[in-house]
Amino acid sequence: MANESEHGVLDRSRHALQDDFLRAAVRFTTDRLKGRKHAAAEELGDWEAWRERGRQIRAHTIAHLDYYLREFVQNARNAGAHVHFARDAAEAREVIAQIVRTKDAKLVAKSKSMVSEEIHINQHLEKQGVLVVETDLGEFIIQLAHEAPSHIIIPAIHKTRGQIKDLFTADGGQNLSTDTQNLTAYARRRLRETFMCADIGITGCNFGIAESGSIVLFTNEGNGRMVTTLPKTHIVTMGMERIIPSFADLEVMANLLPRSATGQKLTTYMSVITGPNRERELDGAQELHIVILDNGRSRQLGDEHFQEVLHCIRCGACLNVCPVYRHIGGHAYGSVYPGPIGAVLSPLLNDGEKYADLPYASSLCGACFEACPVKIPLHDLLVLLRQRHVSAGKTKRIERLAFRSFKATFAHPWRYKAAMRVARAAQKPLVRDGYIESTFGPLMGWTDSRHAPALAKQPFRERFKEIRQNVDAVDNAGDDDFEGSDRP
Ligand code: SF4
Repeated sequence: MANESEHGVLDRSRHALQDDFLRAAVRFTTDRLKGRKHAAAEELGDWEAWRERGRQIRAHTIAHLDYYLREFVQNARNAGAHVHFARDAAEAREVIAQIVRTKDAKLVAKSKSMVSEEIHINQHLEKQGVLVVETDLGEFIIQLAHEAPSHIIIPAIHKTRGQIKDLFTADGGQNLSTDTQNLTAYARRRLRETFMCADIGITGCNFGIAESGSIVLFTNEGNGRMVTTLPKTHIVTMGMERIIPSFADLEVMANLLPRSATGQKLTTYMSVITGPNRERELDGAQELHIVILDNGRSRQLGDEHFQEVLHCIRCGACLNVCPVYRHIGGHAYGSVYPGPIGAVLSPLLNDGEKYADLPYASSLCGACFEACPVKIPLHDLLVLLRQRHVSAGKTKRIERLAFRSFKATFAHPWRYKAAMRVARAAQKPLVRDGYIESTFGPLMGWTDSRHAPALAKQPFRERFKEIRQNVDAVDNAGDDDFEGSDRP
């Protein structure tokens, strides 16, 4: 896949920074989403109270996940669904492939699902000769481009109309214009065939409701309804943490999720599916399978800090406000989950070196926390992941050496003073109008896209000494006046 690169996040970011269109497109769309979100939150009123309620629901559910998961599974089975557990991506792929084989399915229609991206189900089924078609418009576009989503909610955020036109033209063999209606009409025609002929529909799951065993889907394009009602078999891929206890909790989540994701009061469609279709029901799949995925999630349960990452409701709001994501887009993260949530989730789920550099792709400004509808302290988790990385001795030797010298210098005032004197003298040839405009060697990273303020000519320590002397002098003069005054 396009974003599964062997290079680190730094290399991929450098590459992304060269792409002016990508940066402009990502900034334009995320700005729009941010603006809409603020308006929608304001319209609801008391947003902070809603956020706090959302946090409480997620914290309570995850703290008692074993209980609610059992309740969900029991009720889903009572409603007629088949429930499968998958310890990892390979097991989940195999469970799904087995269902596909049993049904002798040749065509699978998919609705947007991050879990299915996480387990790479499309590639797995395609290797077995099954045609998998993404039916969400954005996902359809990036499937044709053989890329991965670059945003949790808007997968094709980085594509121009011209690029989409080229992809659709190549797919359909007829020349299309860049007119939006024309393009969407092509996608509609093309996907309608898929809906009508698909043997199996695969969707994700925004929430699983424990008290009824229902799954809930928030969608905007109607494809979710088609995928869940037209094919005879419906497979749901669901992260094990997507549970909420009750419909009362769904009311809170239905207010938080669409507002945070797209600034809508509610998505165009909200589907609640409880079991397969029943006698005398005209719509709905005759067989419903729910595949519940662990894949590293249970490792976070009980962890004092990282359990909170399971509170996430995948709204994508933290991406829209992140200064790093807004510059480099999603593919630079190299993971299915981009942005601040991806920088925390990816290393935790994979527990290896693969994504160990992602927590460094953050300015730690805390904007992600402010945007998060369930108040996950992502900036704190990023620092803790960095700390873990450093404690495990995984940083480069040069970095370790640099920080050791830093510590040795800052631990003794005389060393600090001497180092500052040397630095002040060394910076002289590089300073223009109070700023260092360019450096060389390993320091280049500080100045190749911004100017660094130069060290002040006179250190604050010396200035402070002077100021204090002046203040003391004024005070003493005042005392003299006071001594000579008639005041009581
Ligand atoms: S961490 Fe918060 S803001 Fe980011 S996707 Fe998850 S719920 Fe949304």
